Amino acid sequence: MKTILILLLLVATTLTTPLTFIQKTFAQTAIDGFNPNRVAAERRWEEQFRAVPDPKSAREHLRRLTIEPHIAGTKEDYDTAVYVRDQLRSYGLSAELREYEVWLNYPNSPSTLELITTKRQPLSTREAVVPGDPTSSNPKITPLFNGYSASGDVTAPVVYANYGLPGDYEELKKAGVDVKGKIVIVRYGNSFRGVKAKVAEDQGAVGCIIYSDPEDDGYMQGDVYPKGPWRPVASGQRGSVQFLFDYPGDPLTPGKPAIPGVQRLKPGEATDLTRIPVQPIAYDVAKTILSQLKGPVRPARGFQGGLPFAYHIGGTNDVKLRLKTDMDYKLRKIWDVITRIDGNEEKDRWVILGNHRDAWVFGAVDPNSGTSAMLEAGRGFGALLKQGWKPRRTIILCSWDAEEYGLVGSTEWAEEFADDLREKAVAYLNLDAAVSGPHFGASSVPSLWKLLRATTRDIKDPKTGKSVYQQWQDRAHENRPEGEQHPPEARIAALGSGSDYTPFLQHLGVPSTDMGFNGDYGVYHSAYDSFYWMDHFGDPDFKYHVAAAQLWGTLAMRLADADGLSFDYTDYAGQIRDYFTEAIRLARIRNLAGSLDDKSMTSAIDDLAKEAERVEKNRQEAVRNSDRERLTKINDAIIQAERQFIDAGGLRGRAWYKHQIYAPGIYTGYAAQPLTDFRQALDDRNATNAKESLVKIVEAIKRVTRTLKSV
Ligand SMILES: [Zn+2]
Repeated sequence: MKTILILLLLVATTLTTPLTFIQKTFAQTAIDGFNPNRVAAERRWEEQFRAVPDPKSAREHLRRLTIEPHIAGTKEDYDTAVYVRDQLRSYGLSAELREYEVWLNYPNSPSTLELITTKRQPLSTREAVVPGDPTSSNPKITPLFNGYSASGDVTAPVVYANYGLPGDYEELKKAGVDVKGKIVIVRYGNSFRGVKAKVAEDQGAVGCIIYSDPEDDGYMQGDVYPKGPWRPVASGQRGSVQFLFDYPGDPLTPGKPAIPGVQRLKPGEATDLTRIPVQPIAYDVAKTILSQLKGPVRPARGFQGGLPFAYHIGGTNDVKLRLKTDMDYKLRKIWDVITRIDGNEEKDRWVILGNHRDAWVFGAVDPNSGTSAMLEAGRGFGALLKQGWKPRRTIILCSWDAEEYGLVGSTEWAEEFADDLREKAVAYLNLDAAVSGPHFGASSVPSLWKLLRATTRDIKDPKTGKSVYQQWQDRAHENRPEGEQHPPEARIAALGSGSDYTPFLQHLGVPSTDMGFNGDYGVYHSAYDSFYWMDHFGDPDFKYHVAAAQLWGTLAMRLADADGLSFDYTDYAGQIRDYFTEAIRLARIRNLAGSLDDKSMTSAIDDLAKEAERVEKNRQEAVRNSDRERLTKINDAIIQAERQFIDAGGLRGRAWYKHQIYAPGIYTGYAAQPLTDFRQALDDRNATNAKESLVKIVEAIKRVTRTLKSV
């Protein structure tokens, strides 16, 4: 059946004109989870929805949202919240602001950076004005700074520590360079910047400078802005250095909402904040520093970057830096915008769509391409409601604030409504930087892979006219490693962290997805992530904004309207099996496999796979028979199954993270490290921890299986 469907689709999308008939017939065929009698109506509503988002309107939203820099907690940020709320209200939706008071820093003044050799040379901590980009001269652009950096004034010798990963410091040690009491300069990439700050601090560095190497997102990638989309010489990457892998959200209220009356930690008690000053710089400034360094030349492979000289690691007393950061820390108000479309039959089942709105500067790609898509999706839902559409379940649109500081607005909201969410949340669909180019990519829990793929089959890729699905598959095929077979389906990545799905999935166990259209994008977290950039490089005709809105909204409609929710735990079991096979291979290499009870893990996965298959069969049957009573039970079990991956005690040493399969790695920060604690124990070569964490994972899988067994 599946092969036939794919074949039909291939034919229908490659030879469109003569096969309109087939396409039409095909369009009326099944949507997973919908009774055959309801498919035609659902397709009609979806088509009506997808007819609403429009490039001109998406462009106008983006223009309006990116006029001023709008860092979380500022008046300009508040203005964007009001704009989003009022737009959604004008579409007939009920939107409200939700306020939290959270710990945020802004720089009091530009940080001081001086290179001290035989002379003192002041270095810039600002970005340059780019001729042509009208907003790049806006006086409200903040100087380069890191969210949650400490204030400090340090003068010390400089050491170049490559990416600032633990392995890089080991190489430095081998080369005889100790960073204790020194300032390290590290480059962006290979780990979240909060990890770089944490490792630098742990190694005894007194300050940390993070620069954008041209190899990463500058001229080594292509033409730089404004000639091309890549990072120009005088551009740096702002961003949070919160220890996100410890806990996200307001640093002073872990696990609790930052609302009046809540007990707050003292700033010195927060365990997710660095104690050292951390400062981002541009690569022209990094060039001035790095070119002066002495000491050994690149002690290991991979230390060399894209600047035109051999990278020395420094550490000598004749090249020092002075770094002074002066941060204004305060409790500040932030504003989520929450829009609710009540479900007609199952009001207490929530399908949640979220995108953050705050930006380090203008945030045309990150995040307001997503905000524009949310507004267009909202306009679509508003239009449907006027035509009589009533979603079965409740849809909630969330415009988050202060994501950039550490997923703050989403985390506080998820913590405030944790009990409701545990009971009611069907799924959380995230969209952050929705559009930076034409290439679709997605991450999600495996139970939602099928739904995600199926939905992309019904969205048109603006550039090629194929479906988003087909274009996504074709590209995966083109880019597959040499000698590899045609992958049966394009890969959907694992969710780590770095956007607002984290509190939903990893704290509460709400099945989540994240997606976007990506391209050449080198201006991340700079003043050049602007409307001008989007208009010239990212999405000049704004058609991918429209596609993002169509896809996001269609996914939401399928989850909101389905008879039997399209979740498939067979894929989940298969994915866990793959993760485990890989982990055991690693355990063998490290001589840790002997003490592990891999039999109980394998049998837990087998049981889950078996139950998943049975529930799937029952679900299909109940959908066919419109057996409402049975469907309610199956749907609830399917929703609650993901929750069972949550272990109340949390992960080792970081209790806020509770999901036993998915969490960011401690040393990756953003990237997922599936079977998290088990993998960490293997990396630490700790047999006791490996054994213990595997037991907890097995228990979690068994809980999921039991939940599925109940129907
Ligand atoms: Zn973002």
